[in-house]
Amino acid sequence: MMQFSPSAGGLAESQTLAITAAAKRMKADGIDVAPFAAGEPDFLTPDFIREAGIQAIRDGRTKYGPAAGIAELRAAVAETMAASGFAGMTADRTVIGAGAKPVLYFGLAVLLEPGDEVIIPTPCWLSYPKMVQAVGGTCVYVGTRPDQGYVIDPDAVRAAITPRTKALILNSPGNPTGAVQPDDVQRELGRIAAEHGIGVISDEIYEHMTYAPARFHSFAELAPDAHDLTLIVNGVSKAYAMTGWRIGWGAGPKDWVQRMIRLQSHALSGPPDIAQLAALAALQGPTEERDAMCARFVERRTVMCEALNAIPDVSCPVPDGAFYVLPDVSAYLEASYEGEPIGNSTKLAALMLEHAHAAVVPGDVFEAPYAVRFSYACSQDDIRKGIARVADFLASLQRPATA
Ligand code: PMP
Ligand code: GLU
Repeated sequence: MMQFSPSAGGLAESQTLAITAAAKRMKADGIDVAPFAAGEPDFLTPDFIREAGIQAIRDGRTKYGPAAGIAELRAAVAETMAASGFAGMTADRTVIGAGAKPVLYFGLAVLLEPGDEVIIPTPCWLSYPKMVQAVGGTCVYVGTRPDQGYVIDPDAVRAAITPRTKALILNSPGNPTGAVQPDDVQRELGRIAAEHGIGVISDEIYEHMTYAPARFHSFAELAPDAHDLTLIVNGVSKAYAMTGWRIGWGAGPKDWVQRMIRLQSHALSGPPDIAQLAALAALQGPTEERDAMCARFVERRTVMCEALNAIPDVSCPVPDGAFYVLPDVSAYLEASYEGEPIGNSTKLAALMLEHAHAAVVPGDVFEAPYAVRFSYACSQDDIRKGIARVADFLASLQRPATA
């Protein structure tokens, strides 16, 4: 029998994508499924961006491009990074990837040797641990708590450092919590990284989805002393409703980025020019549509949180960013469905899809076993109808009698 690698070959499929796909299949079969699993805006990519893609096709931009990405987009990325506080950022320190995901993956792949440790604050986006595992690294989790707004405790990060620590992954605003890490926490993490010579991968893909009074500040702006160790990851997928175009980028120290480019030249060649020219239009065009989409998310956040908090024994903190909420549903994990104990969030999420026609992602995959994640990147109507079904379903469960 074929022996596969236990690291890359042993990975479970991404549940965010798998559950989203299952919900789409149900929808195609005519079932009204609430799309709370999808980490993607329901909006269409703005017209002027789609036109730029069409124009790129008309202009015949259909050949291999440079492995690092096209010069115009790298220059535009360097400019946005410099404007958001990455002083001295230049195009040759950027790499364009086919989405933010491969940028994260290649960033880790060129950094880690087998057994190297990466500190990941939890709850965390499900793909970070899998990427670390795929390239032979070891995850060291540092927990954060809902009752403390999921703020990272820098002392806990300090305590997690060992001689094998290579990197820390930050994600603010974060998926799945929506938490925005306070400036002073990020500053302190920068000091810790600089002190110990640890790389910081700051995934800022939800930058524009930071809701007032919270404000977004790039880790690069807050921690200039750590610039030599910082890889900022960002992209157009979320802010410009461009998930399917697959364009993201990284910006960081030249030696780190150049190594990523060399790996990308073998593993990907480079991202398509067509999508890069659309992303360039997004970065250089008017921001009204982006801002309008973000304003809609704020309204939807209110509707989602109010509806969830109205369900008995569900507690849903109101996050400052991204488009997810992570309510505590632990009271229902002790319940049974038709006599069968539920026990964990994976089972609860499966039952919600089947019986409430609500697609949600279990907290288990985000190191948040007490929760399920609801995305509110869908219409208010979907939210109202879907949460009403979830509430009815939860009310139908048999719960242990309380003393
Ligand atoms: N980082 C986070 C935190 C995300 O939620 C996502 C979701 N897709 C990504 C990165 C990946 O973005 P992309 O679609 O550009 O690969
Ligand atoms: N990041 C999104 C999510 O968490 C999209 C799916 C994925 O890439 O994981 O749902």
